[in-house]
Amino acid sequence: MSATTELQARFDAVLMPNYGTPPVALARGEGRYVWDVEGNRYLDLIAGIAVSALGHGHPALVEAVTRQVGRLAHTSNLFLHDGEVELAERLVALVGGDARVFFANSGTEANEAALKLVRRAAGPGRDHVVSTVAGFHGRTSGALALTGKPAIRDPFGPFGLDVRFVPYGDGAALRAAVTETCQAVFVEPVQGEAGIVTPPEGYLREVREICDATGALFVLDEIQSGVGRTGHWFAHQEAGVRPDVLTLAKGLGGGLPIGACVGFGRVGGAFHKGDHGSTFGGNPVAVAAALAVLDVIEEEKLLENAAEQGNLLAERVEALGSPLVTAVRGAGLWRAVQLAAPVAADVQAAAAAHGFLVNAVAPDTVRIAPPLTITREEILEFAGALPTILAEVSEKGAPHA
Ligand SMILES: *Cc1c(COP(=O)(O)O)cnc(C)c1O
Repeated sequence: MSATTELQARFDAVLMPNYGTPPVALARGEGRYVWDVEGNRYLDLIAGIAVSALGHGHPALVEAVTRQVGRLAHTSNLFLHDGEVELAERLVALVGGDARVFFANSGTEANEAALKLVRRAAGPGRDHVVSTVAGFHGRTSGALALTGKPAIRDPFGPFGLDVRFVPYGDGAALRAAVTETCQAVFVEPVQGEAGIVTPPEGYLREVREICDATGALFVLDEIQSGVGRTGHWFAHQEAGVRPDVLTLAKGLGGGLPIGACVGFGRVGGAFHKGDHGSTFGGNPVAVAAALAVLDVIEEEKLLENAAEQGNLLAERVEALGSPLVTAVRGAGLWRAVQLAAPVAADVQAAAAAHGFLVNAVAPDTVRIAPPLTITREEILEFAGALPTILAEVSEKGAPHA
């Protein structure tokens, strides 16, 4: 029995079966590489689902977290601390000012806060929200109600929340669905869990216009796209729009759990005292990690790096001319490789066998979301191995390949 199979057997015995059994057991990481319990090394091209923005063991993150856990690990919301104030100030400045922040511990909690916030901020007579087909907003009941994936949503409804779904990227459908009785529109700038699905040019501006025309609030879920992933601090800045509410999580803490709900203008002040809370939200250690992430993104010019290495990756994958690859989507270090057949799981397994961690986000789509610190040499290492990986999958009998 290998160390992996032994650990998997123990996992299966005591962990709930909701994740299935993960194929690889990780032991440690350094930079963009991780090692499994067998000692195999992998180039990490998924970063714990777009989370480990600084890679693994970045000295600035280690130092910030270590220092803070020794100084003060927890305060609860009964007391304030300097880190949460500083992080909120930094986020408000990064989104362009006139905003306020609520800190949570995860993405789904950031969206739960947004749901309650729009309920407070929306005027009377507004009784439902609009969300998008195939969108993903989280697994807790409110965020799950917003999630347009029937397979994960339907077994747990009804949710006591009137959510109406429109096709993603379809401005006309949104215009028809959003009326003066709509509280808010929840949308991702690019649908991450659907397979990095990019909307038509101008879609976010259209969402903004529709919300302005009807008084519905525009909630933008940048939990996966935010904090540098696309080569911009936030994807909406590239699109030239400002939502009313912005939710963040994944990359913000560089691996430490933190989420944030940012409300703009009057929406940021809509909660009354006592309306919402979290014991751990704004935890000093997670906040210290997030401050280190923001510092390193600036100091190491990681927005530029994400744009440059992301373009290099897309170019190299396209240049392979593989019949198995039909398109490369996305921006910055947030990319989908669209396959001609539903063999993404085979590509993921073959890549792992060659020392690369990628993610089969959909049956025919591979997601690549490496640390923002990834280097040109590391991108080329992956691009160099990809022909062999794809050939192995094709030989296994992929149709059209
Ligand atoms: C991951 C994700 C969430 C949920 O975040 P959790 O931290 O897993 O709760 C919500 N929205 C989007 C767009 C995400 O990618």
